[in-house]
Amino acid sequence: MRTHTLMPSLLLLGALSLTTACSSGSPEPASAGPRATAASPSPIRTVDPSRIKGLEIVNDSSEQRSCPFATSYPDVPGAEAMTAAMKKDVEGRLATFRESACENGSDGELNISHQFLVASADVLGVRLTTRDGSAAADGQSARTYWYDGKAGTYRTAPDLIAQGSRDAFITGLKERLKGREGVDAASLDDTFSDPATRASAPDDMAFTADGGLRVTFDRGEVGTPAAGSYLVTLSKETVTPWLSAFGKRAQRQTVTPGGSLDLGATQPPAPVAPTHTASGDDDTDCKKVTCIALTFDDGPAAPETATLLTHLAQYKARATFFTVGQNVAAHPDLVRAEARGGHEVGNHSWNHPDLTKLRSEQAAYQLNRTSAAIKAATGQEPTLFRPPYGALNSTVRSATRLSPVLWDVDTEDWKYRDSAKVAQTVIGKAQRNSVVLMHDIHPTSVAALPQILRALTARGYHFVTVSHLRATL
Ligand code: ZN
Repeated sequence: MRTHTLMPSLLLLGALSLTTACSSGSPEPASAGPRATAASPSPIRTVDPSRIKGLEIVNDSSEQRSCPFATSYPDVPGAEAMTAAMKKDVEGRLATFRESACENGSDGELNISHQFLVASADVLGVRLTTRDGSAAADGQSARTYWYDGKAGTYRTAPDLIAQGSRDAFITGLKERLKGREGVDAASLDDTFSDPATRASAPDDMAFTADGGLRVTFDRGEVGTPAAGSYLVTLSKETVTPWLSAFGKRAQRQTVTPGGSLDLGATQPPAPVAPTHTASGDDDTDCKKVTCIALTFDDGPAAPETATLLTHLAQYKARATFFTVGQNVAAHPDLVRAEARGGHEVGNHSWNHPDLTKLRSEQAAYQLNRTSAAIKAATGQEPTLFRPPYGALNSTVRSATRLSPVLWDVDTEDWKYRDSAKVAQTVIGKAQRNSVVLMHDIHPTSVAALPQILRALTARGYHFVTVSHLRATL
């Protein structure tokens, strides 16, 4: 039995329960978990990422309980400077986490998920939410990143405010924070006067659907750490006079989106995914022939998943994809191609948290939201789920009707990123009716498939989906 560090667990639970209250009516997942405020805030607007041309989601994750992490951020053509800023922040946090938690075997978990705030005309806004349960970290935090296509410039949250209005804006924020339970006047002043944080605070700002500005302060920024995070929403009338020219465009494109995002970049060609068994039921009898179920987690990813589908089609091999909801939302076309190709699409949660560390309703939300995205893409609800990190308990089991799927061949492909080793591991460990765990977010794993399919086909294996394997055994 592992021991939990009390503090991060409590914070995580507290943040999640508050998020439930705050995000009702909002499609966002357990994200900021801001401290509940008197008035129910207008939700920040969300965007359909599948409309962003050339979008790639940069994913990194483990599937191991002793080192649980999952990070993601978007790479939008034309917004390279913004992507570079997110990459630096995400990779920095991940490196620190892997050093502190993974190397020492502590029980923390790092999760960084993304959300589009606006993607319209020449304005792009993204929010990254980090939950870090490692002992050295301070729980939950979020930051928004902005790209100004007109100026061709990456912008931070404070750039939404005009230079000349910054003092009035900060005074307005302080007025709304003072007197709230747990707010500490000294840390409030420090946040805005400390030369180290002055230019970058506050770093989490997003427009609401009605043009107001929601500012979220992470735990410890303006109050005692135990008090959690704070949320201030400035009305449209209040904040508009303080906005910079870019801030006004970002506000306008949030409230009344003016069409497709166009940052002037040439779009990479959309990945072409083949189909190979569109109409057929699989009549493979696993009682009579040697079957194996290849499974691919954490996708879909462009272009890796399309390449993988091409490899599978060449061998008329079927597989099972345990997809992550935020990637399904970005690439529904790839999920549709999986289903049309005769493969099975399963559920791997919305943003890859350890479900056993969530409350039952949060675990259910992670799975339900992903099933809905899969159904929107393919027309069919999944029946299987794979819990991230293989972490399963009775709370998670009873939170869903989906049937859990673990694995018996672990390639650990996320760890070493070596095609030859992935192929060697699968070919060496494969047994009749094995369920093999791989990840289609890694090009090195996808590149191993031709060799795996060739070698196992030569040994008489038939590649079937998990549901087919279960049904015919
Ligand atoms: Zn996974």
